[in-house]
Amino acid sequence: MNLVLVRGLLYILASILFVLGLKMLSSPATARRGNLVSALGMLIAVATTLSALTVIPWVWLLGGAGLGAAIGALAARLVKMTAMPEMVGLFNGFGGLASMLVGWAEYHGSWAAAGEIPTFTRVAIFLTILIGGVAFSGSLVAYGKLSATITGRPILYQGQNIVNAVLLTAIVLLGVWFSIQRARPPEATGFDLAYALLLGGIAAALILGVLSTIPIGGADMPVVISLLNSYSGLAVCAAGFVIGSTVLIVSGALVGASGIILTQIMCKAMNRSLTNVLFSGFGATATTKAGAYQGEASPITPEDTYFLLEAARNVVIVPGYGMAAAQAQHGVRELADLLEENGTQVRYCIHPVAGRMPGHMNVLLAEANVPYEQLVEPQDVNPTMETVDVAIVIGANDVVNPAAKEDQNSPLWGMPIIEVDRARTCLVLKRSLKPGFAGVDNPLFFKENTRMLFGDAKASINALVAEFKS
Ligand code: NAP
Repeated sequence: MNLVLVRGLLYILASILFVLGLKMLSSPATARRGNLVSALGMLIAVATTLSALTVIPWVWLLGGAGLGAAIGALAARLVKMTAMPEMVGLFNGFGGLASMLVGWAEYHGSWAAAGEIPTFTRVAIFLTILIGGVAFSGSLVAYGKLSATITGRPILYQGQNIVNAVLLTAIVLLGVWFSIQRARPPEATGFDLAYALLLGGIAAALILGVLSTIPIGGADMPVVISLLNSYSGLAVCAAGFVIGSTVLIVSGALVGASGIILTQIMCKAMNRSLTNVLFSGFGATATTKAGAYQGEASPITPEDTYFLLEAARNVVIVPGYGMAAAQAQHGVRELADLLEENGTQVRYCIHPVAGRMPGHMNVLLAEANVPYEQLVEPQDVNPTMETVDVAIVIGANDVVNPAAKEDQNSPLWGMPIIEVDRARTCLVLKRSLKPGFAGVDNPLFFKENTRMLFGDAKASINALVAEFKS
């Protein structure tokens, strides 16, 4: 059979595997298999592409693949689960950079090969460097904010949106100017106007990435990372048009679309519009002052907590970032098993932005083999919260903060929360009364029906397990 046809069929197979893998990622029960299926698709796509290459020496390709694999393996070992958003941010950035380089290199390649670049390819090249450039520099800023290398607070100045709008307009004009250039650079002067415009576009895109990300606060970075992920997918898609690669177009479009869907889901979970996330400078000013919620927190000992849980018929566990930080998920599962043996119904409720990355809590609970059927959605639990005997909050804070529905001045106002404050008893496991990621105080700790089990979540859970066993 014709080799070109075989390669085409293999690309179609790879694309189908990407789509199937993505579909499987939508349920915790099939997510791991989905990852493998997508990885298999990528292996087929990479191998097929490499088999068609004749220009680049194999030693370079193998060297590059080896280096990439080594960096990946090292990152998997060294990067902590809680630092995943930073790593994903960096990966997005490198994806954008790679696409930008493809566009830049193709400009030279097309000149050399044909002496002329068709308008369609020019447009695709400019889109590649524009979206790739924004994704690259924006991701570096997002990384800096999440890793606290630069301030997580929104950086605002007067006329910011106007500056960004002017820059964007300038980029569009540069793009149009670049796209209508046809002639080769005159031999005499050697000045290549199109190339100068392209370099101008690259510089402007890099600046736009920085300027459009600095006004966004650290608390909104997960949404921004998801959006930048979508941009890096779109850049890959545009790069696919530049070099005529169907598999790049398909995979880039899938990343672009899934990134934008995730962005929407996260915005909805925070009850914010994307425009509000991108332009409001959320968190620049704390409207509700620190210490605004006063009251007496009621601490509880593991012994008394045992009696509380022992009598409960119906428990909802709400995990948050603190469970990840303490690595308490296995203990939580053990405690849940003991509760069930005692005849208590146990359910887990995960907020979409709990933890530090999308699906963070799902991954940890899956690692502890928590049965999927015990996971319930906030919108299903909230209406029946009054019937819950004990809501156990394990290292969660922002996602259960009732200020979101009680205090119009709170930065969290309007964000849908898991309404544990309406359970008969709310048990909160954390080390102190300190705020969570958003830096907002939590009136939950002072409610009459709240009991605070202070300490590291893993130590507290282990103490409870020991109480049950004895
Ligand atoms: P959170 O509001 O950040 O609160 C976590 C709490 O865990 C802290 O208040 C801390 O209190 C406690 N904690 C930390 N280490 C602990 C330990 N070893 N043992 C016990 N408790 C510990 O967490 P969340 O309720 O899960 O909310 C997530 C927040 O992160 C949201 O604001 C969300 O927007 C943001 N975010 C989400 C993502 C995402 O994609 N999911 C990514 C980045 C940011 P103590 O210090 O008192 O112990």
